[in-house]
Amino acid sequence: MAVKDVMDALRDMTIENTRLSELVKDIKLIGKTLEIVYRLPKKGLEEDIVERTREALERLADVEDVKVRFVEDVPAQPVMGAPAFTRRKVPGIKHLIAVGSGKGGVGKSTVSANLALALSKLGYRVGLLDADIYGPSIPTIMGVKGERVSVDENNRIIPIEKYGIKLLSIGFLLPSEDTPVIWRGPMLMKALTQFLFDVNWGELDYLVLDLPPGTGDVQLTLAQNVHMGGAVVVTTPQDVALADVKKAVAMFKEVQIPVLGVIENMAYFICPDSGKKYYIFGKGKVAEFASAYGLKILGSIPVDPELSQTSDLGKPVVESHPDSDSARAFFSIAKLISDITERR
Ligand code: ADP
Repeated sequence: MAVKDVMDALRDMTIENTRLSELVKDIKLIGKTLEIVYRLPKKGLEEDIVERTREALERLADVEDVKVRFVEDVPAQPVMGAPAFTRRKVPGIKHLIAVGSGKGGVGKSTVSANLALALSKLGYRVGLLDADIYGPSIPTIMGVKGERVSVDENNRIIPIEKYGIKLLSIGFLLPSEDTPVIWRGPMLMKALTQFLFDVNWGELDYLVLDLPPGTGDVQLTLAQNVHMGGAVVVTTPQDVALADVKKAVAMFKEVQIPVLGVIENMAYFICPDSGKKYYIFGKGKVAEFASAYGLKILGSIPVDPELSQTSDLGKPVVESHPDSDSARAFFSIAKLISDITERR
């Protein structure tokens, strides 16, 4: 069990309309003892917060003891409508678009890569940053596995260029594919921040940021510290994916990052023999979710064996088969995203 699981549990529990996770100033898991320091939003709430915390953590079998401390820290009143965080803008980047998902395996990295390529083919200057520290797959998808990055005279990382876009992945810094990424907390955040700010990106219209799946500390910290133009969420029509993507949407809302829309992946399968569409995972579920959350569906991508094969071969479908149904779906999504972001 990780601190992430604890934060997930605390995110689901509220006190006076504030999620417990938002009050956490410090959190440590030592053996089976969890130590939490909360910012106290109001005097007199201490007992309730402790009780709610225990309630939230009940289902986490690995936590046997919880020690709670409070620090009085009344946050500065945010200006109406403005985020309560100081976010840095990545120099040279016009629009930073985060791609998130509730769970792994729904095609987030595949979508990120093809979306970046589609934007580039529409004439924009594009970068792609693989922040999926737990499973960096962009080097494989973009056919640059095994490449290493160098630094310029100002010690800034020089991204790799492929198919006309600038690429950076934590995969470039690891000695081998099998190296586990065990960085945690501050070290991890330092590496990721460096990946955004200490990079010679040049001038880009779009930087597509492939986030790790889920709503853990990395996503939250990035979202709170980096100025993002918007986020898109990727889901399949499966119930398990939909249940989790709701959390991802809630997280972006919580940190006031506009969700530009939903990308429905593996929406249907077109039978190559008959041309008939089959909604393998069910029809209308993503539309239902999108409408319940007031979100736009930016596009639906079919289950396409070619999409998977071309990714494995390092030449994504938008590059290798630009006339395919999948590639067309990506072009249409890229166009919509550019319309939305340019309008803002
Ligand atoms: P995530 O980043 O969400 O973990 P990936 O992009 O790595 O997911 O995709 C997981 C697997 O599913 C990969 O093998 C990928 O090629 C495959 N895949 C993704 N989208 C599709 C699709 N629309 N049709 C067929 N295979 C797909």
